[in-house]
Amino acid sequence: MSVKMSRRGGDEIHKLKSDFVRDAVSQDVRSNKFGGRVQTRFPPEPNGYLHIGHAKSICLNFGIASEHNGVCSLRFDDTNPSNEESEFVESIMKDVRWLGFDWGPHLRYASDYFEELYQFALQLIRSEKAYVDSLSADDIRAYRGTLTETGKNSPYRDRTVVENIELFKGMRAGEFPEGSHVLRAKIDMCSGNINMRDPVMYRIVHARHYRTGDKWCIYPLYDFAHGQSDALEGVTHSVCTLEFENNRPLYDWFLDELSVAHPRQIEFARLNLSHTVLSKRKLGELVAGGHVSGWDDPRMPTLSGMRRRGYTPTSLRNFCETIGVAKRNTTVDMALLEHIVRKDLNSCAPRVMGVLRPLRVVLLNYPEEKVEHVEAINNPEDSSMGTRSVPFSRVLYLEKDDFNEDPPKKFYRLAPGREVRLRYAYFIRCENVVHNPETGEVEELHCTYDPSTLGGMAPDGRKVKATLHWVSAAHSVDAEIRLYERLFSVEEPSALTSEILASSLNPESLQVLRGCKLEPSLAQPSSDSTYQFERQGYFCVDSIESSENKLVFNRTVALRDTWARIESKRHAKRNN
Ligand code: ATP
Ligand code: MG
Repeated sequence: MSVKMSRRGGDEIHKLKSDFVRDAVSQDVRSNKFGGRVQTRFPPEPNGYLHIGHAKSICLNFGIASEHNGVCSLRFDDTNPSNEESEFVESIMKDVRWLGFDWGPHLRYASDYFEELYQFALQLIRSEKAYVDSLSADDIRAYRGTLTETGKNSPYRDRTVVENIELFKGMRAGEFPEGSHVLRAKIDMCSGNINMRDPVMYRIVHARHYRTGDKWCIYPLYDFAHGQSDALEGVTHSVCTLEFENNRPLYDWFLDELSVAHPRQIEFARLNLSHTVLSKRKLGELVAGGHVSGWDDPRMPTLSGMRRRGYTPTSLRNFCETIGVAKRNTTVDMALLEHIVRKDLNSCAPRVMGVLRPLRVVLLNYPEEKVEHVEAINNPEDSSMGTRSVPFSRVLYLEKDDFNEDPPKKFYRLAPGREVRLRYAYFIRCENVVHNPETGEVEELHCTYDPSTLGGMAPDGRKVKATLHWVSAAHSVDAEIRLYERLFSVEEPSALTSEILASSLNPESLQVLRGCKLEPSLAQPSSDSTYQFERQGYFCVDSIESSENKLVFNRTVALRDTWARIESKRHAKRNN
């Protein structure tokens, strides 16, 4: 199957996609199961913001549907009124669209089916496949048994149909307090699969639902709502994560007892990413505990956080494609994601110069009032992006780290008496170092420039070992820059409990640099571009923190590619 994906820059990639889920779907299409139709869905619960794990599921579900000219709906599985909100519904729709997918007219809510689900429940009561239980929640748990012990029947299990219908209708009518009754499926308390031990279908919750208001005070559990919602919508392939494998017999049981056609459920491994957690609940706890600035904190693995950080939707889709879909749970190294983000940005990000930690440099032999404009290349990977002119003058800023008064052996950049090249401009030589009289810190450098070296070559053929970026002080734009590291200092924080999760956060995950100096073309940066600051990485404007008189940039990703290093080490090992 050939798939076209549009990407920034206008070119398209054509790829043959294949994995065990796609193979199963293609097989069903060939054998005309479901009349050759393909219908999938992405079914988030609106109880948090989407993260990159959800992106894997979105790319898979929308991808499969489009490869077969089928339908993929966006269905909010909103059966739990206590932690669902329309804020989450809005953010989920925004994120799915941003990632590049469109559900068209197929927007669905499980809460639209509350009446149908209620009728399904009555149907099961009538056929003696469901009963109202009045045990307490604790007793229900105790009666359920364990993996090694069978459960035992509730004393309420043999209520008559008439009694059950009357109680269930009373539950709906609001006659009972929370916890007094539940509706359960009547299956088998001795089943080896605990999901089949008379699972709860409905509970009483006297809470306002963000969509249905106070209309209902009984709510179906996810396990009862999910399969029936799929069936009501005509879903053919219900693609979900591995933890639902043991729920499949239950979903089948409900649909069989209701005589409703089944979708085919196919389970795949969820994405785990190193140094972060992919669980809305745990991410929500970080937000609530004030450990991050919000769901869209640029350190969060949420789609809104990644968008704010400058990750492109193309790179997230490429990432999902690269990791593929498998049946076994693994953890993907964050360095791979960063590698893919970098690769995409390399092709489309304009190059600019910005000095993160400025050191003032005066060119003693450069005239005071003179300003020259040097021509700089916007992207060496893409000549169509053209050039720009950058002002050069007597006082410049260089990067503090690019000067060393007492350079160690392999330090080739600026040092007393040494000459370096300024990108797109001249050779300069450090003549004198000015120190702060109190602290002794290097405060300023006095240099000379060689007027014959414009463009970076000396007519006498002499060489320099370093090319540095710079900004003209008089023309520079002030900015605050935020640098990010891994959110957690441990590799697999997802294994930690909520209680100790926060204590494993990386205290150096956010570093704020003030007084950074950028070239003047960044005075009015484009809000949807990511730039490469030469030698420093990729950066984008922070849409939330920037204002008319304050410019804030986020570093999307540094230039150093740890993934490439991991790969080349692996390669070397194999060859030895
Ligand atoms: P979370 O634990 O973050 O709340 P969830 O599975 O409970 O995740 P849902 O809102 O139910 O969240 O997820 C919607 C869909 O996204 C489901 O089909 C689910 O299987 C899928 N999904 C969630 N997390 C991942 C993940 N890490 N990798 C792949 N798919 C995922
Ligand atoms: Mg869930």
